[in-house]
Amino acid sequence: SLQEAEENGFKGHSMLAPFTAGWQSTDLHPLVIERSEGSYVYDINGKKYIDALAGLWCTALGGNEPRLVKAATEQLSKLPFYHSFWNRTTKPSLDLANEILSMFTARQMGKVFFTNSGSEANDSQVKLVWYYNNALGRPNKKKFIARSKSYHGSTLIAASLSGLPALHQKFDLPAPFVLHTDCPHYWRFRLPDETEEEFSTRLANNLENLILKEGPDTIAAFIAEPVMGAGGVILPPKTYFEKIQAVLKKYEILLIADEVITAFGRLGTMFGCDMYNIKPDLVSIAKALSSAYMPIGAILVSPEITDVIYSQSNKLGSFAHGFTYSGHPVSCAVALETLKIYNERNIIEHVNKIAPRFQEGIKAFSGSPIVGEIRGQGLILGTEFVDNKSPNDPFPSDWGVGSIFGAECEKRGMLIRVAGDSIMLSPPLIMTPEEVEEIISKFGHALKATEERIAE
Ligand code: PLP
Repeated sequence: SLQEAEENGFKGHSMLAPFTAGWQSTDLHPLVIERSEGSYVYDINGKKYIDALAGLWCTALGGNEPRLVKAATEQLSKLPFYHSFWNRTTKPSLDLANEILSMFTARQMGKVFFTNSGSEANDSQVKLVWYYNNALGRPNKKKFIARSKSYHGSTLIAASLSGLPALHQKFDLPAPFVLHTDCPHYWRFRLPDETEEEFSTRLANNLENLILKEGPDTIAAFIAEPVMGAGGVILPPKTYFEKIQAVLKKYEILLIADEVITAFGRLGTMFGCDMYNIKPDLVSIAKALSSAYMPIGAILVSPEITDVIYSQSNKLGSFAHGFTYSGHPVSCAVALETLKIYNERNIIEHVNKIAPRFQEGIKAFSGSPIVGEIRGQGLILGTEFVDNKSPNDPFPSDWGVGSIFGAECEKRGMLIRVAGDSIMLSPPLIMTPEEVEEIISKFGHALKATEERIAE
């Protein structure tokens, strides 16, 4: 039991290791996952967990999808690798680029550039935008504006763009060309009596003031997740993107949509841009692109930008950027099969069928005395624990309320994401109605147990 485990020093994996990505050490007491099946994963002791975060917001098709395994092994046998430098490429990479372009309908896109991850996609965005502005003879238009609480990855540039202090502290980040503007979290940051629309207007005005203060000629691009993921599942307030886009247009500032979490059905639309009527110049994708069976990311680039990059009059020479594994044929073959499955199984329809119960079932716990807000859209959901139901009354951080909840979920066989007193769910898109009920039930029991432990 958890009590026995705690007597032996166990505090819940999420509490022991808040950000230990990459490190592998038995003395960190990791939870070791051995295999997966549908919406479930199993640890090395055979314990079964419902994977309510889909790995890291990514295994959209769950574990063990035989078609993806087949796509990978066939490609491995046929051509395990060829690169995409100097206008050489492979068939899976070309086909995947075309498929992605045909699926993105929020606006017309020109070309796709492949990376291995979301972080590399966002780093590549920065280089691409700089190259583009240099080609246009405006080398001073270099700064990027991102938002507080955003997450764009953890390489030097992607971590700079991210608006989470832990990613900056002690790393000499953010880089000086990155500015941060408001987090659009209405519940937390609204003024008394401010409507959602008024809140959005105030944030758009703040953005405009920041641009004017810095000088519009120095601002290259604005980057935003349609729904903020790792920052706590923060949905844009009403009219937010409409107003932000108007400001960006006015000052010729490019818009980058970071769809690393939101692309391919997570919100109930194929892309987050479809949900919020976002018309980006550039888009970053990764994660569900291959249902995470193979590492791959990509950026979608508008024709206006690719026209400049490929124009005869561009004297800068080639866009000297790319990775050995850009467009890796095995990753691309798996991603192509993933996209085929999304289409054949009408994944969007399925998400919209199960999402209402998922949202309504978890939001029914909003009355809990330790819950401040439960928010979500489609199959993504965040919950914040606060005292007195107020965003201004956090629990003492050494109580570890979020971590207690995470440990209570884990004990009951459910894995979620914990970040301070904010917790997040983002289950596989293929969940059955029964699995939705299982998540709701485990959430409820873990919440009750957390309430009791806090009251002690
Ligand atoms: N952008 C967003 C919105 C993300 O959520 C993430 C990862 O969670 C990234 C970028 C970074 O992706 P990766 O971890 O593949 O580098």
